[in-house]
This record gives sequence, structure tokens and C-alpha cells, in this order.
Amino acid sequence: MNIVLMGPPGAGKGTQAVRIAETYGIPHISTGDIFRATVKAGTALGAQLQQYMSQGLLVPDEITIQIVHDRLQQPDCASGFLLDGFPRTIEQAIALDKTLGAKPIDLVISIEVPDEELIKRLTGRRVCQNCGATFHIHFNPPQAEGICDQCGQELHQRVDDTITTVKNRLEVYNRQTEPLIAYYREQEKLVSIDGSQAIDQVFQDITRHLGVRQ
Ligand SMILES: [Zn+2]
Repeated sequence: MNIVLMGPPGAGKGTQAVRIAETYGIPHISTGDIFRATVKAGTALGAQLQQYMSQGLLVPDEITIQIVHDRLQQPDCASGFLLDGFPRTIEQAIALDKTLGAKPIDLVISIEVPDEELIKRLTGRRVCQNCGATFHIHFNPPQAEGICDQCGQELHQRVDDTITTVKNRLEVYNRQTEPLIAYYREQEKLVSIDGSQAIDQVFQDITRHLGVRQ
């Protein structure tokens, strides 16, 4: 089973990806992970990647497509895979279809959560810069507001978690994925999952579409 997993930041995509890969015994292929591993390997391609990533730039399509193509040729992908973080654009989706040829994508799982809920999840995180403890003002609040339970120091919100940054990330995601979702819906491969439910329920809904483990 060849699967693509999509979902905005804060939708719990990473958690579901791990569970799907474990349950169905297929490799979890995250482009973020491959990028980091390639940089670590110290190859020419790794050096090139590092340049883009250290400047906060998007890795160009042709490089990303080549990396995914190479990964999908590995023997562990023969009986299926779960793609996470790819494709992000129509161009990448078309290139992926070409790469796969006679063994196309079977299912595209889109985990969907209303923006207001994502904003609540993503902006509520607080970290202690002293001991590294993390809290969430709604889901895991400290005993005293703004104070670390572990060491008593002040809690902070990371720049990535501020309302402006979060809104911007969601806007970028929505803009990028709208055409992609339409592309897969047209191919009748798209399954929308209600990601505002509890983690276990989300996973159950996903397995209903994937069927029982073979
Ligand atoms: Zn602390």
C-alpha cells in the first residue's frame, strides 16, 4: 500500500505517521528526516541541502524529487510506504506519479483540523528556558501561571509558537495544499480525516480506510 499523509502543523500528523508505519509494517518516509540524514552524511548533495536549510529557504523541487525518487528505490519500499511531508506542490505530485509508474499512490490521507483549533494547540505551548520543561496553557498547564513546575523559573513562548508565526504557517500550508487536495480528489484517492478528535479516534478512522493489517 502506497500512502501519502497530509496535514497542517499541529494536526498530529507525525504521531499518526509513526502508528500507521508500525501497524502496517511499511517505512515512514519523512522528507524532513531524509534532508537531515543527507546533511549528516556529508555528501555534496548534503552540503547543497545545508545551504538552503541554514538560510531558511525551501529546498528546490528538483532536488527534493530526486531524493524521494532515490529513497523509493530502496528494497524496503517494495511492499509499500508512507510518505510524510511530500508532495507539497502539484509539480511534486506529478513527478511522484511519474516516478512510481505502474505502482501508483493508493491513498492520500488528509488530516483536517479547523484553523481556530490549530491556533489554540500551537500558540498554547510554553517552555522553560532554564530546565527545558514544556507546558501547554490548555492541555498541560503549570500549577502557577507562567511559572515552571520543575524549577520555578519563568515560562516563555517560542517565536515559532506566536500567533503571527502560526497564522502565517497555516496560511502557507492552506495555500500550498489546496490545489494538491483537488488533484488527489480528482483521482479519487483522497480521504479526509477529522483531526480534531482524540489521537486514538483519529487513528481508528485512518485504519478504517486502510483496512485490517495483512
Ligand atoms: Zn524549569
